[in-house]
This record gives sequence, structure tokens and C-alpha cells, in this order.
Amino acid sequence: MKIAFIGLGNMGAPMAANLAAAGHDVTGFDMAAPAPDGVTMAENAAGAASGADIVVTMLPNGDILRAVAAEVVPAMQAGAVLLDCSTVDVDSARAVADMAADHGCGALDAPVSGGIGGAAAGTLTFMVGGAQDALAKAMPLFDVMGGRTVHCGPSGNGQAAKICNNMILGATMAVTCEAFALADKLGLDRQAMYDVASTSSGQSWSLTTYCPAPGVGPTSPADNGYKPGFAAELMQKDLGLALQAAEAVDSPTPLGTEALRQYTDFVEDDGRGKDFSALLERFVGRGRT
Ligand code: NAD
Repeated sequence: MKIAFIGLGNMGAPMAANLAAAGHDVTGFDMAAPAPDGVTMAENAAGAASGADIVVTMLPNGDILRAVAAEVVPAMQAGAVLLDCSTVDVDSARAVADMAADHGCGALDAPVSGGIGGAAAGTLTFMVGGAQDALAKAMPLFDVMGGRTVHCGPSGNGQAAKICNNMILGATMAVTCEAFALADKLGLDRQAMYDVASTSSGQSWSLTTYCPAPGVGPTSPADNGYKPGFAAELMQKDLGLALQAAEAVDSPTPLGTEALRQYTDFVEDDGRGKDFSALLERFVGRGRT
């Protein structure tokens, strides 16, 4: 297939390289990043999109996505699909899908989980919102870039699934860090706390797959000086998107709101650039607030 790939940063570059390695004809564009292996670069986003069967975007936020879509959608051929894999707000995903439909094109919002490692290995999970025919067209790309694809419903529902998931993740990681800090102060060995909670009702992905305590549980960013992984500021961004969506539909999020406050304070102090599980260090070094 002829594919355009716009946004060739930490995630986009390996995803585009995997598509090219699988034999697709990939033309890329990025404001700053160099060409990934096997990708031919265009002079601008519209140039990359023209003649493509599928236009993939992997961009920092919804405002940038809307600006790029305004440029590329008019250049897309009728019947082509705009496949946005960025994490953005639900409203931007739906606005971009409407823009594509007005030009006779399909659109999918397909944010991912799996991080940079999953992007390089081609094992990302895609959460997809959009019409079935557009999904069928994009399926060969999902098969190359990902390990699992879940159709979540109409446009915007992929982003809805992503922010609900990450709100759970942000809150469970924060409370897992709190529990390790409390264990320290109660004189409870971290390994003993892990051995109990990992096989009891306190079990979660944050504890057993991505344990925030160094030297406990499987290897995680905690064992690598809290090098991300998933940076604290990206968790802050995703929690902000979740709360923005919750406010729009008047849904209560007391724990999501508190988790956002914790990550925001952390990022503003010294957490920027650290993995989000480094919140543990902050709790250990602090009294009760
Ligand atoms: P990144 O900052 O490394 O890459 C974004 C790229 O977009 C950059 O290369 C930038 O130059 C380019 N760009 C910005 N504006 C542009 C424009 N107008 N036209 C063309 N290119 C433009 O970010 P990333 O880590 O690759 O993340 C991309 C998206 O994936 C984000 O929405 C992020 O939330 C999401 N995401 C990231 C991770 C992760 O672990 N990094 C995991 C899941 C989802």
C-alpha cells in the first residue's frame, strides 16, 4: 500500500520503519525528525499525503493534529483513510473525522499502548474508533505495527478507551507508590509487601508488571534509575485529557483529579523526564500532606 506517515518522533519513527520493512511504500514528513529506515521524506505534510491510500499521523496533541489534518485532508484522494495514532482529546478526534468525511475520506482514531518498546517490536495495542470499512482497510497496517487491535465503536471511542485506561493506570500507580512508602515507615519490608499484595486483592499491573520499587518484582524503570518508560509528563497529559472529557460529560473523577494533582506537582518539582513510577521517591521523602 502507499502510506503517508506524519510525525516521525520517538513513536512514529519505529512504526513507519516497520511499515516500510513490511514492504509498504512509505512517504514521511516531520517538522524536525530525520527519515526513518526505508522511508522517503516529502517537503510538507500535504505532499506526503497526496496519492496515499492511508495517511498515518503520530503527533504530540489535538491542536497540532487539527492543524495537520486541515493541511492534509484536502490533499487526500477520495476513499483514503486518515489513521491518527496520537493520544489526543476526544473532541479533536471527532472533529478530524468529520473533516475527513466532508472530503469523502475515512478516519480512524487509534491511540496505542505499549510505548517505544512496543513501537519498535511491532507489538502495540491499538484502541480504534471509527467505521468498520475504514478499519478493514487499515487492518494490514495494524497487523504490522501491533499485536492487538480492539474496535471500540464510532469515532472518538479509541481516544475514550485510551484515557479511561490511563486514568486507571495513573491512580493505581500513585496508590501503589503510597503503599510502598507507608510500608517503609511501618517497618514492613518492601519484598514482603510485594509478596502479599501481588497475590492478594491489592494486585494490579502497576504492582506486578511495572513495580515502582527498585529490586522488587520484575525488571521495570525503577531498576534503571527511573529512566522512562512512560514519562511523568505524559501521564500528566493523559490525566488532563481524561478530566477534560469527564468535565464535558459531567462525570465524577475525584481520584483521577487527585492523581493529576500529584503528577502535576511532581513534574513541576523535579519529575520532568523521569518515569511516572518515580512518584515513589517523592512519597518516601515526604511527610503526610
Ligand atoms: P515525539 O515528540 O517524540 O514525536 C512527535 C513528532 O511530531 C516530533 O518528531 C515532531 O517534530 C513532530 N511534529 C510536531 N508538529 C508537527 C507538525 N505540525 N507536522 C509534522 N510533524 C510534527 O512524541 P512521541 O513520544 O512519538 O508521541 C507521539 C504521540 O504518541 C503522542 O500523542 C503521545 O501521547 C503518544 N504516545 C506516546 C507514547 C510514548 O511512550 N512515547 C506511548 C503511547 C502514546
